[in-house]
This record gives sequence, C-alpha cells and structure tokens, in this order.
Amino acid sequence: MRKLGLLPCLLLIAAAPPSPDAKLRQIVEPVSGQQMKRTVEKLVSFGTRHTLSSQTDPKLGIGAAVRWAEAEMKGFGLQTLQTCDTVTKLPRVPSPTRVCNAVAIQRGTERPNDVVIIQGHIDSRVTDVMNFTADAPGANDDGSGTAAVIEAARVLSKHKFPGTIVYAALSGEEQGLLGGRILAEYAKAQGWNVVTVLNNDIIGNSCSSDGACNDKQVRVISEGPRSQGQAELAADTHRFGGENDAPSRNISRYLDSLADRLNIGLDVMQIWRTDRFGRGGDHIPFLEMGYPAARLSVAVENYNWQHQDLRTEKGIKYGDTIENMDFPYLEKVTKLNVAALAAIASAPPPPEATVEGGLSTDTKISWKTVPGARGYRLRWRRTDASQWEQSQDASLPPIIVSTNPPSTGSKQPQTLYNVLRGVRVDDWVFGVSAVSNDGFESPVASAVPGGAFKPYVAPPAEPVK
Ligand SMILES: [Zn+2]
Repeated sequence: MRKLGLLPCLLLIAAAPPSPDAKLRQIVEPVSGQQMKRTVEKLVSFGTRHTLSSQTDPKLGIGAAVRWAEAEMKGFGLQTLQTCDTVTKLPRVPSPTRVCNAVAIQRGTERPNDVVIIQGHIDSRVTDVMNFTADAPGANDDGSGTAAVIEAARVLSKHKFPGTIVYAALSGEEQGLLGGRILAEYAKAQGWNVVTVLNNDIIGNSCSSDGACNDKQVRVISEGPRSQGQAELAADTHRFGGENDAPSRNISRYLDSLADRLNIGLDVMQIWRTDRFGRGGDHIPFLEMGYPAARLSVAVENYNWQHQDLRTEKGIKYGDTIENMDFPYLEKVTKLNVAALAAIASAPPPPEATVEGGLSTDTKISWKTVPGARGYRLRWRRTDASQWEQSQDASLPPIIVSTNPPSTGSKQPQTLYNVLRGVRVDDWVFGVSAVSNDGFESPVASAVPGGAFKPYVAPPAEPVK
C-alpha cells in the first residue's frame, strides 16, 4: 500500500509549479563573477572616471565610461538613456560640468509605474578629490557596484516582470552624490512609484587591512526615522512608535530574509543607520525625497584601497585595484540583488497599513488594497525584535483586487481590515505585505506613522472645533 501511495504523491510534486523561492534561485543562477571581472577590467581601462575628467575622449575619462555602460545595457535589448544635469558652484564642482548617468529601463508588463532601482556609481577618485587626471581605477569603489548593475541587467533582461526594473550607473557620487540626486529627480518627474532603491557601493572585497576577512556577510544599511518628512512625523512617532519601521528598514528586513532563503552562502548584516559612520552614498538623495532606499556594502572595508593614490609606502600597497577584489564574493552579493529585484518586480507594491487597539485586548489592522494582489499577509513582531516574527494570511472578503485586465469597479483602493484576537497593540509592531497570484510577497509596510512606501505627506490638520 505504501508503495502504491507514493506514485500519485510524486506526480503531484512534479505537477506543482516551482515556488517563488525556487524561481528566484533559477533566475540568479547565471550571475557570474567572471563576467563581472571583465566588466571591472573594462571600467579600469578608462584610466580615470573622475566626474571632472574628459567627456569627449573616445577611450579615457568619465564620458567614455558612461557611454560604454549605456551601450552595454542597450546590447541586452533594454531601453536606455542618459539622465543629465549641468552642475556648478559646488566645492567639488567649481566650474559648469555636465553630469550624466547611464540608465536602462525594463518596463513592467502589468504595473509599469511600480519601479525598483539598482544602482552603483561609475565615477572614481584618488586621494585628492579634485584630481581628475591621475589614474583612478575605482575597481571596487565603485566598479563593483557598476558591474553588479550591468550584470543584473544582463541576467534579468531575459525575463519579464509585472513591475519595472531600472538599472543605473551613476556619475558624480564622489563630487557630492550628484548622480543620485539627478536620478531621484528624474524618478519624481516621471511620477514613478519607487518601491525600492538598492544602492550598491563597494561590494567586491572581503578582506581588510588589519587581516579581518569576511566573505559570508554583506552589510545592508538603512535609515531609521525617515529623512524626508521627519519634522512632521516626529510627534506621531513619539506617540505611536515607528523608529525602526521606515520603509527603508523594511527593505533591510526583506533582504535579510531573502538571503537566508536563497542559500547562496551570504548572510545579511543589518546596519541600522543611514550610512556608515559619518559617511554617505547615492541612496541618500532618494531618502531625502521620500523614496525607500538601502545601501549594500562589504562586511569589512579596506581603507587602504579606497580614495587612494596608487603607490607603495613602507611596504603597503595603496589604491583601488582589481587584484584586491574577491569576485566569488561579488557574485554572491549580486545574486542577492538580482533575487531582490526579481522578487519585488514580481510582487504587488506594499500596501499602506494602519493599526488600532489602544485599551483593547485585540488589534485591528487596516490596509488599502493594491493592484495585482491576490492576498495580503499580516506580520508582527515584538517591539525589540529585529525581524518579523509572526505572520498570518489575511482573511479576505470575497473580492479579487486586480487591474489586469483593468476592471472599472476596483480602480479606487478599498480599505480592508482584520482583527487579531488576544494580540495587544501595545506589545507588538504590525505590518502588512501584498502577495501576487504566483506567491511573490512585497516588502512589509509597517502600520506606523510614515510607514508607507511613498513620500510622506502630512495628513491635513484637524479642523478647529
Ligand atoms: Zn563609493
């Protein structure tokens, strides 16, 4: 009997569609460290990619590098463009300078306005930030992030996703986060619903100058209280909580959980601050405009290999050269990026959630429906827990929320709610994610003031009674 029972069981397994995680593992499989090594070699060959270097030389300087990156992504069949601005009168850009990003857009098939961005900066520097002539290989800072962007474009352009993916090699980072600002402003002008920005900056080495090595972890760095809207939010946050629940923090949790499930030998070290101590990156202009964003960076930085003139002093080699890089490690970090892009572009956007339950033994969670959601998942955790601990699929009224094909009746979001019996609102943080037909889950949006994945707009003031 047992033997007979086995066959139908196997048939069932064979017939079942692959799980979302199995699909993601298939998608990331072709990501190649060797391919990225060739990309970094090409980037280094431009001599310097300093933002103030030549725009017109066919082989050397920032202009040639940006044109090459754009052509490379165009070669994958993607729509490409350069987003540019002329910048001047800045401490690090004294005279008018054209700053251009190489950008590729992979339009979503169902929700093209929902956008997830991967970016790295293509410009490089040496010790003196104004030196635009000395060789500045910038292999790791940030040839590694640029290589991840191009590799993600190569691999993901072979697939189709409901949401849009944008790939960006940014310029002007070292001169004041200029490319990040230019792309964030472009996103705003386009009216994109930017769900997530993954900013990859220094992701390709695994050993530091003190001998510490770590090729098993990547830091995901995310702001706490959100930068944009914070003055308006401060009083509400003080009253209702949400210090650890800005959307960017939930991207960090999403990547942490995803890395565990992918099984690629890479763990996320969540760093809960806007960037490394006193430093910055191209995710910050996005945060300032209210777009969720996180920075990915190596577990251990090597400061002898960043922003240094190429030289040897007292037997120590300085400079950001390719031989200091760890391409198997870069491959793992890029796989995590590619999986996150695919997952977020496959999932509906995160819903907006609110919570009630003061002076009650139950908690009521409400959320607005989002297009493309088959269902919603409620998640909650203790206030001092770093990761979501409890979850439950929302019990839904018999409605199908979908805009594909667009149904005239359901264009306006509806508000749904569930009540968690015996769960006290005082003791937990709550959130809601949206789940697609094929099981892809969005990042969780926390039910806190400012928890929505969109620029914060203060609610209208209560009328004076
Ligand atoms: Zn950098």
